[in-house]
Amino acid sequence: MTRHWLGAALLSCVLAVPPSAVAEAQTLVLKGGSVYASPDATPISNAVIVTSAGLITAVGREGEVQIPSDAQVIDCTGKTIVAGFWNSHVHFAEGVWRNAGSAPAAPLTEHMQAMLTRWGFTTVWDLGSDGRDTLALRRRVNAGEVPGPDIHTAGNIFPRDGHPAYLPAEIKLPEASTPEEAAQLTRMYMGFGLDGLKLFTGSFKGTGKPVVNMDPAIAKAAVEVAHAAGKPAFAHPQNMAGVEAVIAAGVDIMAHTVAGEPPYSPEQLARFKQQGIALVPTLSLFAKLPVAPEIATRLVATTVAQVKAFSDNGGPVLFGTDVGFTNQYDTTLEYELMRRALSERQVLASLTTNPAKYFKSAKKGRIEKEFDADLVVLDGDPLADVTNLAKVAYTIRAGKLIYQKQ
Ligand SMILES: [Zn+2]
Repeated sequence: MTRHWLGAALLSCVLAVPPSAVAEAQTLVLKGGSVYASPDATPISNAVIVTSAGLITAVGREGEVQIPSDAQVIDCTGKTIVAGFWNSHVHFAEGVWRNAGSAPAAPLTEHMQAMLTRWGFTTVWDLGSDGRDTLALRRRVNAGEVPGPDIHTAGNIFPRDGHPAYLPAEIKLPEASTPEEAAQLTRMYMGFGLDGLKLFTGSFKGTGKPVVNMDPAIAKAAVEVAHAAGKPAFAHPQNMAGVEAVIAAGVDIMAHTVAGEPPYSPEQLARFKQQGIALVPTLSLFAKLPVAPEIATRLVATTVAQVKAFSDNGGPVLFGTDVGFTNQYDTTLEYELMRRALSERQVLASLTTNPAKYFKSAKKGRIEKEFDADLVVLDGDPLADVTNLAKVAYTIRAGKLIYQKQ
């Protein structure tokens, strides 16, 4: 059977799983660690965090917070606790996710751990996959069968003849040739209850071949339908024409920087700010492209400069790696590269407060009473060394352990 990326074969019956299904009426306490309640907060040392029924019910210093007698207590002495991480660019596209609705839970759990939970991710945006598998996987995650993050998924639209060179030719991709087709596809995605839209405003057709860009009028028609449904629009720009289409169409989030392209112009930066556009850097993706080392170095330098200019301009940077398209699961390199453009606190914000604010998740991104009990316990202080963000001892989503270092 032809496989679709969130194409016409989506089944509506696998939708509408209440996220609250993941919460359990269990009390989990983290005791003895150092807590950064938010990226700009001073740390609380010897802290106690109490979680119950999926929420944080108390945060404070040891001795000031009552520990319920029936609680499961995790000793976090010497560790640092931050809010659960978001990865705003992932894919559930690898073969292991095929038939996720009926596959045994063990291999799904193992791969979810390798790819996401062992790196601290409690919320992710899937920006392209076979929707039948991803929605079935989300249902099993939310039912507690496969420990995993809160999954958001976006429907894709490609320009006509815009099948990217790096995706298998046999996969049928949804292309739009007219604004009407783009609007219709987006209406279908929104009707299925998908969480957002992703447009290829630029598609890579192979080295030496021209990028196929999406007509801004086509992109705009799709964005307007998504926005009318209250959903965000992402775009893969590929080149500066693709960035211009992002601006003209009112896209919300650039899913990548544009490697090898010049810096964003002052006019583009002004428009990003005016329109509230966010950026997902995916720097390590460019560092690991199969090109000569000196070319990779140059690509990374251009993208790091773009992230710095974007952030210095006041734009929200959202952490994202394109993992699941790449098999580079370890987040260490991404943190090292981001640190060239941002402070440690800004990198932490890109994982926590920035996406929570941008995607209007009012109960995520900080460690506060009544917030979702999404937490990451780290083996080192991430403000002392940004690569400590990759040294995860425990990942907790909705008060439930979804990863524990062995
Ligand atoms: Zn991607």
